[in-house]
Amino acid sequence: MHIYDDEVFRMACEQFRVIANYLNIDKNDRDRLMFPKRAMAVTLPVHMDDGTTETFQGYRVQHHLTLGPTKGGTRFAPNLSMGETAALAMWMSWKCALNHLPYGGAKGGVACDVTKLSTRELERVSRRYMQEMIPFVGPKTDIMGPDMGTNEQVMAWFMDTYSMHQGYAVNEIVTGKPVSVGGTEGRREATGRGVVYLIERAMDMLKMNPEKSTAIVQGFGNVGSVAALSLGLKSGVKVVGISDHTAALYNPNGIDVKAAEQHVRKKGNLRAFDEGDRIGAKEFLELPCDILAPCAIDRVINESNAGKIKCRILAEGANGPTSPEADKILEKRGEEVFVIPDILCNAGGVIVSYFEWVQGLQAFMWSETEVTDKLFRILEHSFIQVIRRAKRDNIPHRTAAMAIGVERVIQAKHTRGLFP
Ligand code: GLU
Repeated sequence: MHIYDDEVFRMACEQFRVIANYLNIDKNDRDRLMFPKRAMAVTLPVHMDDGTTETFQGYRVQHHLTLGPTKGGTRFAPNLSMGETAALAMWMSWKCALNHLPYGGAKGGVACDVTKLSTRELERVSRRYMQEMIPFVGPKTDIMGPDMGTNEQVMAWFMDTYSMHQGYAVNEIVTGKPVSVGGTEGRREATGRGVVYLIERAMDMLKMNPEKSTAIVQGFGNVGSVAALSLGLKSGVKVVGISDHTAALYNPNGIDVKAAEQHVRKKGNLRAFDEGDRIGAKEFLELPCDILAPCAIDRVINESNAGKIKCRILAEGANGPTSPEADKILEKRGEEVFVIPDILCNAGGVIVSYFEWVQGLQAFMWSETEVTDKLFRILEHSFIQVIRRAKRDNIPHRTAAMAIGVERVIQAKHTRGLFP
């Protein structure tokens, strides 16, 4: 038993075990690669609008420091635990290494329900969290970014809280900031854009005609909404299903994603958006489509539905959407489902975060075209490497992607020694 013991962490460990066996990693190196370098838990007392004081639990896990500072998002979610944070940090490590970013993985967050907080309460939670984290983060040690439940405004409060402590503006302490306070052009759209770039690459490889293809996108946050919009407007794919935590909608004639986005902007969610049929969350993922993009939470493709999903391409916009049991089932289905694994598929976010950090450190300002062009070049390189490795060794795409990441970390650990 250890402090990380939880279902999501066990899943990340099981995935790692598969890779460790495939790479034949020495027994002496396995725990060292898997367990986080360090983890912080903080209690955050916050004044609520009604005059009461509520305490929230906050976490930050820094997985390894072998390749540079740690990097990773900040998740505000009701059931966030140390174990889930550690799993997400581990995935960030393999993601950064796969994409050649000079970082170890990190993740953090606060166990809170953002839908129940007022804007002022959210600001107090955000500032208090960063305040408690000041001793443990820094532009050269650990750089925060956004994740589920946080946005550009939260990143701006983080940056401001850290900067006030230092006495000058420290842009490079956090990424995903608004452009007005040192954010980069193209960060908000980066993850969704990356997902769609890779879907287009996969369609091209599989000789699929985008104009004749349909997509179902689960999740309508920063990743899912941008991916759905861009699939429809840029790639010419018909988006037949969208969903969020309040509703799942299906319309075989296509959904007006722009209208859905405007609706969510006004109302906050898809609950009252009335285009298409309302579908149960479970059935939604099993509907026929060419592209299925889970862009919400972990383990939605699992033992119960991996045999039933009907897509040709599974594009993992979320972190950990497919469980190891589901992976085994998908593997048995052979060529039927082309998986774009999460650490490749959703890497656009952290890649552009890296660009934002670099621009911050050097006081540069790149144009959106420059950012997007550089993003696609990195994704292209990683995509090719993953496909080649999978073909060479006849292994699933996830095994190939994770193996490339894990290999880079272990090589660096061997070169540097036992400490980092
Ligand atoms: N939360 C994003 C991820 O899971 C990005 C984090 C960042 O930009 O640091 O990859």
